[in-house]
Amino acid sequence: MIIIAGGGMSGAYLARRLVTEGIARQEDVVIYEPGHKTSCGISPCAWGISRKALEEAVNKAELPEDYVLNKIETFLIHTPVKADAVIFDKPRFIRDCLDGFEVVRAPYNYCKPFNSKNDLVVIDATARRAVIGKGLDEIYARTVQAKVRNEAKLSCMVFTPLDTGIGYSWMFPAGSTCM
Ligand SMILES: Cc1cc2nc3c(=O)[nH]c(=O)nc-3n(C[C@H](O)[C@H](O)[C@H](O)COP(=O)(O)OP(=O)(O)OC[C@H]3O[C@@H](n4cnc5c(N)ncnc54)[C@H](O)[C@@H]3O)c2cc1C
Repeated sequence: MIIIAGGGMSGAYLARRLVTEGIARQEDVVIYEPGHKTSCGISPCAWGISRKALEEAVNKAELPEDYVLNKIETFLIHTPVKADAVIFDKPRFIRDCLDGFEVVRAPYNYCKPFNSKNDLVVIDATARRAVIGKGLDEIYARTVQAKVRNEAKLSCMVFTPLDTGIGYSWMFPAGSTCM
């Protein structure tokens, strides 16, 4: 039995790959995902990805290919830089990865050691180490995410360093279909 705590991008993709790689059977994998949402109603963005990375992930996970919402040809970081990136439909990608798995809509809080009597393996894919605990030298930084409606069809991502000298902002034009 494999328990994956966290059904975000990592946990969902891992679950899928365990099966497509023949490492586990779907019925032997259980995912715990409480469904945390940010104040704007979606889990952290991560909708921007290199085109090649998405293509590779989709192929390896044996998923349909139509996750691209918008093609990004330029990063605007003071000056334009050529890019080969896409904004993809991350929620749908995750849903498709999790399709057919048992997903428990609750946090996972208990960790049995690896290779216990029941051969239970627990994987912490919660990003914030909810199961295995924080590392001693971990630093957490606050992020703010907002979703805005814009009529223009943009094909560039804009990166702006903050005036404070620490941190930055990114704009991800997601295309009309995700609003
Ligand atoms: C504002 C913002 C924008 C970003 N934009 C991008 C981007 O465009 N491109 C990019 O590549 N990366 C981006 N990132 C980084 C990206 O979000 C992360 O790298 C990615 O989400 C990590 O995926 P993950 O599955 O490890 O973690 P998460 O996506 O955080 O998923 C972890 C999951 O674990 C669940 N969970 C938490 N506690 C428990 C528990 N006790 N039991 C069970 N489940 C639990 C949560 O509900 C969550 O769904 C962005 C990050 C932020 C904050």
